[in-house]
Amino acid sequence: MSALMMQRQIDALNQIAPRSDADLKDISLQKLRAALGNARRALLPPPEVLVKVRRIRRTKQNAAYYAENADKVREWGGVYRTANAEKIKERKAAYCAENKEKVKARMAAWRTENKEKVKADRAAYYAANRDKALERVAAYLAANPEVRAAYRTANADKIREMKAAYRAENADKIKEREAAWRAANPDKMRAQEHTRRARKRGAEGKFTAEDISTIRAAQKDKCAMCKTKLKGRGHRDHIVPLAKGGSNWPANIQLLCGPCNCSKGAKDPIAFARTHGRLL
Ligand SMILES: [Zn+2]
Repeated sequence: MSALMMQRQIDALNQIAPRSDADLKDISLQKLRAALGNARRALLPPPEVLVKVRRIRRTKQNAAYYAENADKVREWGGVYRTANAEKIKERKAAYCAENKEKVKARMAAWRTENKEKVKADRAAYYAANRDKALERVAAYLAANPEVRAAYRTANADKIREMKAAYRAENADKIKEREAAWRAANPDKMRAQEHTRRARKRGAEGKFTAEDISTIRAAQKDKCAMCKTKLKGRGHRDHIVPLAKGGSNWPANIQLLCGPCNCSKGAKDPIAFARTHGRLL
């Protein structure tokens, strides 16, 4: 017993010690013992401190036990978790629901403290699930076109630079790809070529391969002049020539057979039609 504790007990005994004849008459050994017990308990730390002390002691004991029996403890934990998976899940969900803000704050704090790990985890996940991630992004952008549009507007300069850099680095690849596309899409190519030439002449409007399909169907795939079967071919002709102020809109386009197209040139459409016996 420490000197301090001894002194305290002496003080406690002094407090309950009989001080007068009346006290002595009243005292019994049992009473004295009970009083001494009370005095001792009074010297103990308050109960909440005792609980803490006991907890720390137990934690230390537990830690020592875990250290010695790590495998066993892990195995037990696994058995327990497997047997009580549902219960654990429910308990976790209930805890999270009740402590939403706390959980959120804790997670945010953890992420702030473990930035590198978060970054590495994300990169690893992305590497392992690249296709899935790209699919998800594509689906999101398809469902939210305004997001992509806003990004493009906000980063127009950056995008232009990136595109230019890509074109510079992949000139050969691009040329190849374009040649392949042109070979695979002669209709679209011709439509584009017409538009380009019309633009050069200052004509307004444009038509697409789809427009040509519509026009061809309207002409029943026959030359607009001589009614020769075009068999999916024919020349795209400006009804009012561009040179005479015609537009490049689909309404000014017709399909002609080769001979008709060659003989028409840039003649006035009405005069040309009349030379073919047609009156417009
Ligand atoms: Zn013809």
